[in-house]
Order: sequence, then structure tokens, then C-alpha cells
Amino acid sequence: MRKQVSFVVVMLAVAASASLGQNGGQSAAALTVIRAGTLIDGVSETPKKNQLIFVRGEHIEKVTEGSATIPPGTKVIDLSGATVLPGLIDSHTHIFLWGEDPAKGGYDANILKAGIALRAARATFAARRALEQGFTTLRDVETEVAGYGDVEIKQAIEEGTIPGPRLFCATRAISTTGGYNLEGYAPELEMPKGAQLVDGPVEARKAARQQLEHGADWIKVYMTHRSWVDKQGKLVSQPTLTVEELKAIVDEAHGWQKKVACHAYNGIGLQRALDGGCDSIEHGLEITDAQIAQMQRQGTWYCPTISPYYGDWARADTPEGKRDRARAAVHEISFKKALQAHLKIVYGTDIGGMPWTEPMAQEFRQMVRLGMPPMDAIQSATSRAAEMLDMKGEIGVIATGAYAEVIAVAGDPLKDVGELEHVRFVMHNGSVFKNDLAK
Ligand SMILES: [Zn+2]
Repeated sequence: MRKQVSFVVVMLAVAASASLGQNGGQSAAALTVIRAGTLIDGVSETPKKNQLIFVRGEHIEKVTEGSATIPPGTKVIDLSGATVLPGLIDSHTHIFLWGEDPAKGGYDANILKAGIALRAARATFAARRALEQGFTTLRDVETEVAGYGDVEIKQAIEEGTIPGPRLFCATRAISTTGGYNLEGYAPELEMPKGAQLVDGPVEARKAARQQLEHGADWIKVYMTHRSWVDKQGKLVSQPTLTVEELKAIVDEAHGWQKKVACHAYNGIGLQRALDGGCDSIEHGLEITDAQIAQMQRQGTWYCPTISPYYGDWARADTPEGKRDRARAAVHEISFKKALQAHLKIVYGTDIGGMPWTEPMAQEFRQMVRLGMPPMDAIQSATSRAAEMLDMKGEIGVIATGAYAEVIAVAGDPLKDVGELEHVRFVMHNGSVFKNDLAK
């Protein structure tokens, strides 16, 4: 113990001298100035014209009018013909999933046909893909049998081994017996499960503790699993954890000052998610008026992930096809209700469930199509998501003191939000990752 204390003292001394050195280095860090033709800063309701963004090291030093003096010899990045925005945040991704196309073996092939090295290589590709599309932060909501691989990919990014966005990792996720894939195999077989399965509040709390111990930034919980259409044509989803089980997880996570994301479609499971105190509802396909009011009261975040429910429907005359259509029909209604109630909506694609080759910005089109103003949609992927991630003022905004996460598009995303599918410039933590606008 004593030895440890003296070790800590030495480390503090080393850290102090290192930070002194760093301060010396920081004032010496080269200044870069970005000239923005139009600036959407992630917070303001209206864009600004002709702005200068002063970047030093990893941070934004200041944002000024275009007429401000630029010190001689400063590197200037000319984005005067472009619209500049903060780096985007996708609050629902799976870097360890490689699509779920039934023709390619569906979800199960991810686990049964790929070893951990191949999966890590694919996750590396996914991280790079996200960054080149302007997504500089991801909340990655579970690895699907890849264990704590997300925490290690995050480490590889942070140490500079591979390019990638800032990651918030949920590690293994939690569900119950009968509450997650792989399923449908002979009962004698011990199949791997894409989540840590628990039964009872004691196991639930233990799973949360294990995941937090191994680096989970968020806990992801499945509150519903299978879904189908009943005889009346209504969407039904199977509930998983009980309120008591969820409360144990939420209590544990909150003690660590971490939050809990709850996958919940509708019905009993969604109600239990809210009663158990979850922080964000993922998907939320069918939310009743009373549940909307409860989310307002509790300040629950809503990550609707619209896109995956509008592609790849099964044939209309099959049970799956009926389910797919019922999901989309109620989802639209819920999203519009959430908009009207001013719920805290954050941008999420569920990419990974869809192949990583698809554009991550497609969710913007869906949100705007269902009535969300483009500026609101942009804020759901910038400052609002930053707030959910407890990074308000640090990411998702172009302002003094924030990390220099800056992207640019050639056109006007407020006129055509589809512009965000063509990000031409990406700066991540003050370093230019991509610049297709350079003259
Ligand atoms: Zn998901």
C-alpha cells in the first residue's frame, strides 16, 4: 500500500513535469485557420457566413468573423465555397456487425462464419468508413459475440494505430434467457449468444459490473426481442428483462456515472424500460401518448433509427412481411409524436445491421421526410447527441474550447439534407483526415 502511494506521488510528479512540457508545446503548437464560407455550428439556429475557425492542437481556439486578422505564416484551409459543420455523431452503430442480408446468411453468419481476427479487421474498416463520411464520434451499442473488442478498437484508435472516430463502447449488452440470438438451433447445442444473458436482479447487476469493469462507456440492454403481428394486425414484441432486473442494471451503471441504452420496440418491454429508468430508448417503434409523457418527465433520450425499418421488407403475404410493414407504419407515427412533444431525439443509423458500405447519412433523409426540420436533424447528430454523451461543448459544436471536429460539404444541407451523404472534408481532433475540396 505504502509502496503504491509513493509510486502515485512519483507518477504525479512525472505527469506534472510532462504537462508543463506540454503547455510549452501547446503555445508552440501550430495554428491552422479554416475559412468557412457558411458555418452551421451545431447549436445556432441559423448559419453564419464567412467565418474563421482558429485551430490549435486538438482544439478550437476561437471562431471569428472572416475579416479578423490571420497571423502571417499561418496555414489556412480554404473552405470558403463550402458549408462547414461539426463532426457528426451516430448514436447507434455496430462496428462488429457486417450486415444481416438473409442471402448472405443473415445475422448468424456474422458469428458462425467469421473468426475474431476477421471481425476485428471488419471493425477496423467500419471505423475508417465512419470517419471518412464525417462521423467523428460513434456510440457503438454492442459487439454481438465479439466480447470487449470494441474497447480494444477504441484503444487502437486512441493510440494512433488505426484511423477512426471517438468511440463510446457498450461491450457485450445484456438480455435474458430466450431474449437474444443465436436461436433456432438444436436445443442440445450450446450456441453463442449475441448478448450477456441474465436471469434475476443479482445476475443482472453482476453483468453490468463485469461490463463496466472491462471498459463499457454505456450499458446496452435489450428490453424486447422477437416481434410479430397478432390476429388483430397489431405489432407485438416479446418483453425480456423485468423492471427489477433493469433497475439493478441502471442503479449499478448510474453509480459509475454511466448511462443505460434500452433497445425497446413497444408494449410491455418499452413500459418496463421506462419504469426501470433507462436513459435512452433505442428504436421505440410504437410509443403511446402516456409513454411519450413519461419520457418527457424523465428526460429520456430517443434514438429512433428509422432507416433499417424501411429497407429489405419480406414479401407482403408472409408473416415476416406483415411484421416489417407493421413496424414501419407505427414507427412513423411515433417519430412524429416525439417531434411534436419535443422529445430529445438523437441521430442513430443501426449501421452494421445494414452493411457498412451504405451511406451513414441516409438517416437524415428519413428524419426530414417525416417532418423534422433539417437544422433539427443536424443538431440531433451534433450538439444534442453530445449532451447525451456528457460531452456538451466539447464535441458536436464549433466553438471556443471544443475539440476541432470539423467537416464540410460542397452544397447547402439545409436545402438538401442529402448533401451530408457527400462529406468532402474531415478534421478529427485537429488533424485533417480528408480534404477533397483542396484547390
Ligand atoms: Zn442496434
